[in-house]
Amino acid sequence: MAEHEHTESAEAFLPFALPDIDDAEIDAVVACLRSGWVTTGPTARQFEHDFAAYLGEQDLHAIAVNSATAGLHLALEGLGIGPGDEVIVPTMTFTATAEVVRYLGAQPVLVDVDPAHMNIDPDAVDAAITPRTRAIMPVHYAGLACDMDALLALARRHGLRVIEDAAHAFPTRHRGRLVGTLDSDATVFSFYANKTMTTGEGGMVLTRDPELARRVRLMRIHGISQDAFNRYVSRTPAWFYEVVAAGFKYNLTDIAAAIGIQQLRKIDRFARRREQLAQRYDDGLAGLPLQLPAHADAAAGDTHAWHLYVVRLAPDAPLGRDALIEALSQRGIGTSVHFIPLHRHPYWRDACALAPAQFPVAEACFERMLTLPLYTRMSDADQDRVIHALHALLA
Ligand SMILES: *Cc1c(COP(=O)(O)O)cnc(C)c1O
Repeated sequence: MAEHEHTESAEAFLPFALPDIDDAEIDAVVACLRSGWVTTGPTARQFEHDFAAYLGEQDLHAIAVNSATAGLHLALEGLGIGPGDEVIVPTMTFTATAEVVRYLGAQPVLVDVDPAHMNIDPDAVDAAITPRTRAIMPVHYAGLACDMDALLALARRHGLRVIEDAAHAFPTRHRGRLVGTLDSDATVFSFYANKTMTTGEGGMVLTRDPELARRVRLMRIHGISQDAFNRYVSRTPAWFYEVVAAGFKYNLTDIAAAIGIQQLRKIDRFARRREQLAQRYDDGLAGLPLQLPAHADAAAGDTHAWHLYVVRLAPDAPLGRDALIEALSQRGIGTSVHFIPLHRHPYWRDACALAPAQFPVAEACFERMLTLPLYTRMSDADQDRVIHALHALLA
C-alpha cells in the first residue's frame, strides 16, 4: 500500500487530523482559477449534482453552502424556527449545533447523551419536550448514527421537525440507508478541514422537501429570487433581479466545490482506510485500561464513518486524561477532546442556566475522553507509534 507508506521520521509530530489532498484537488483548483469563474457557478452545481448522486436518491435536493454552520442555520430558518421556539440539542457537540438556534432567537434545550456511544439519548429528548418544542437536532457523534427510529417516532408523536447535524457522518449507513437519505426534514454535512472529506470550508444541505430546498437556496444568497436570477432560462434582462427576503451570504465558491468534487470521488477509499485504522486501534489497544469506541451494528445495516476515534480512560488507569494528553504530546502525538460539553462553556451555562448535575453521562465521559489521531494519510507505522506510546504509558 504505497499510499500509506510515507512515514515521517520517528520525531515528526503526528497531528490528530490531516486533510488528504493531492494533485487531483490542486489541478482542479488551478483549472477553476484559470476558467475565470471563481465564485458560485457551474462547478458548485456539479458538486451538488455529484453529492446527490452519491447518496443515490432521485428526489433529494443537495444545496452547497460555505459551512455546515451556515447549512444548519438555513435549514432551521427554512423550517420556520424563531423566537419562543425550543430546539433540543445534545450537550456533547460543537457549539455550532446550538448557536444556530440562537441566531434565530430560539432557545436551544441541551440534553444528555447515551453512555454507550455518546449520541443523544432519546429518553432525555422525550423528557425535555415541552409545548414550545419545535425541533430536534441529533448529532451523529464521531460518525455513528443516532437511534433515528426512536427520534423520528418522538418527532412524529409530538409534531417536531428533525434536522440532522451530520458533520461527522459522511458516509454513514443507518438501517441500510445512508445518512442524508433518512426520514428527517434536513441533513447537513460539513467539509471543514478535519472532516472525512474537505473543501477547506464548506457544507451541504440535503432535503426531500422542495419548499425547504427553495427557501434554503433563496436565503443562501441574499434572498435574491432565483426566478429572476436564472439568466439561462429567464426572459428578463441579465441585470434584473429581485430581493424577496433579508437573506444571508452562505454560498460555496467554485474553487471550494472543485476540491469537493475530487474528494467525493475518493470517499469510499477514505472510508475503507478509516475503518481499517479503527480496527487496528481496536486490536492494538485491547487489554489497556481504555474503553474503546462503540462500533456500528453491522447486522442492523449500520456503518461507522470513523471521523473520530474517541477512547475513555478506565477508572483504574495509572494516569488521568489531562496527564495522558500531555505525555502523548511530549512524544510528538497530537490528540484532542470531542467535546468539552456545551453546558461547561460560560456562554451556554449562563444563557441556558445549566448545571453539570443535569448531564451526568456527558460529565463522566468528558473527564475521561480523548480523541486519538486518525486520518487517511496516517501510515500503519504512524499508528503503531500511538499504540506503543499508549502501552508505555498505560500498561
Ligand atoms: C465541525 C462541526 C460543525 C460545524 O461545521 P462547519 O462546516 O465548520 O461549520 C457542526 N457540528 C459538529 C458536530 C461539528 O463537528
